[in-house]
Amino acid sequence: MSERTLVLLKPDAVRRGLIGEIIGRIERKAGWTLSALELRSLDQATLEQHYGEHQGKPFYEPLVAFMSSGPVVALVVEGERVIEGVRALAGPTDPIAAAPGSIRGDFGVIVRENLIHASDSAESAERELKIFFPGLV
Ligand code: ADP
Ligand code: MG
Repeated sequence: MSERTLVLLKPDAVRRGLIGEIIGRIERKAGWTLSALELRSLDQATLEQHYGEHQGKPFYEPLVAFMSSGPVVALVVEGERVIEGVRALAGPTDPIAAAPGSIRGDFGVIVRENLIHASDSAESAERELKIFFPGLV
């Protein structure tokens, strides 16, 4: 069953010139396709909506500051089991705990600056896609 997920390449990935590498890994998975792709700067309102579940946690304010410190690449990826699949490519939140071979495991060190966001469930994907790509049919 085909699904769609929201992926954000975070400002550290853009600054470090890793977007081609990361998009390449996603693109090469059999049958997955990109249905939207945009470089954009995120405002406070968008980030509050997107990271609403984390409001009040100690890492929330620095996270929002980091996510607005430079442009991100927002993309929609479509395909078989893509929600679980991009999370697997990304690896766990803490890059040091992420296995080599995963995006976070290969390129990250700092928990906050972990290169990539990917929707964690069908419900999150639906909610996040509406925030970033409201016009998507
Ligand atoms: P994920 O992005 O893996 O779904 P979470 O939803 O738990 O992780 O957290 C959202 C983002 O907040 C993480 O990707 C990371 O950038 C940041 N973050 C999470 N936990 C911490 C932490 N303990 N310290 C600093 N930043 C954190
Ligand atoms: Mg999350």
